Amino acid sequence: MVYKTFGKTGLKLSVLGFGAMRLPMTEKDGKPIVDYEKAVPLMRRAFELGVNYIDTAPYYCESDSEVAVGKALKGWRDKVYLSTKNPIEDASGANFRKRLENSLKKLDTDYIDFYHMWGINLESFRSSIDVKNGPVEAARKAIDEGLIKHLSFSFHDKPENMIPIIDSGYFSSVLCQYNLLDRSNEENMAYANEKGLGVVVMGPVGGGSLGAPSEVIRNMIKKEVKSTAEMALRFVLSNSHTNMALSGMEDLRMLEENVKVAAVEGVLTSDEYGQVNAILAEKKRLSELYCTGCRYCMPCPAGLNIPHIFKLMNNHKVYELTAHSKREYKALFTPVEERHVWAKPNGVSADKCVECGQCEEKCPQKLSIMKQLKETHTVLGK
Ligand code: SF4
Ligand code: SF4
Repeated sequence: MVYKTFGKTGLKLSVLGFGAMRLPMTEKDGKPIVDYEKAVPLMRRAFELGVNYIDTAPYYCESDSEVAVGKALKGWRDKVYLSTKNPIEDASGANFRKRLENSLKKLDTDYIDFYHMWGINLESFRSSIDVKNGPVEAARKAIDEGLIKHLSFSFHDKPENMIPIIDSGYFSSVLCQYNLLDRSNEENMAYANEKGLGVVVMGPVGGGSLGAPSEVIRNMIKKEVKSTAEMALRFVLSNSHTNMALSGMEDLRMLEENVKVAAVEGVLTSDEYGQVNAILAEKKRLSELYCTGCRYCMPCPAGLNIPHIFKLMNNHKVYELTAHSKREYKALFTPVEERHVWAKPNGVSADKCVECGQCEEKCPQKLSIMKQLKETHTVLGK
């Protein structure tokens, strides 16, 4: 396993982190819970293989992930860094504290190493977090009491909005989205590192999209690469500003494959990294000929998410992620109970367009949106 110094904390953390959001599940009294018999040995195997950071959250795995992680950490607590999150539901420091205490109880531990303000954006940071008697004050008190070692945040916002949050100086690390298909946080990652924050990447396989087979991606370098997911992980780990990639590992096979990649320092040579960057730039150019994702066409009166539908079509056409694109597209018109558990929330499929023409008037690319929607439904909806 490769270990990197984690920003100003000075800690040596493994470049692969265990994301405890896809643990094996079972049922008890008709309720879904984590299958501890399988999940605990899986997490402990990760620790044995050198993974020294585990990330959970109150609502993962039907709200049972923290309990399972607590069980796995018995006997490992002083060797593994624990991360969990506080869903900022309001601006109250007292409520922040209650949620923290609840996590400590579920995890059956006295302290959390990296405690995240969960899924924040600049607006919520200013209006509900960095306020009098609010979460930041409560978190600082908890740090003084030793309940939290480091304060972190996970980020879901426009890339430029990360900078003021970093500049607040409150945080030791950031958890953000970054992968082959979404590089929008790349500059922020460099900035965060420069300011002494550790950078943990979530979604190195694009929330599952890069877990699907694509020969285009797998063959980006000359070396033998077993899968699209392996290439995606290599790419993320090869960015010098990535301290760690979090992977939601569901079974031993996935764990061992990821550990193999993370065990090799410099997972892409600088030549290979350059080559991959050049291919990605060309792919991005081709994608943008089709749709830039600018969203000027929105909203659609029939409820279609046009940029999302075209993104799926692009992933099929340009990156050959066909299986994933079809699955995500079908989720748009598949009832919740019949959908793959990781598919995005449902919406409106392309065939529901009523051809009002409003979107085409607003599209700076002058795309034939109505025609392309029909094509998308024919190709992805079969
Ligand atoms: S033409 Fe179709 S997709 Fe475009 S705004 Fe009208 S209903 Fe929506
Ligand atoms: S306005 Fe055109 S380019 Fe922009 S998201 Fe809509 S379809 Fe794509």
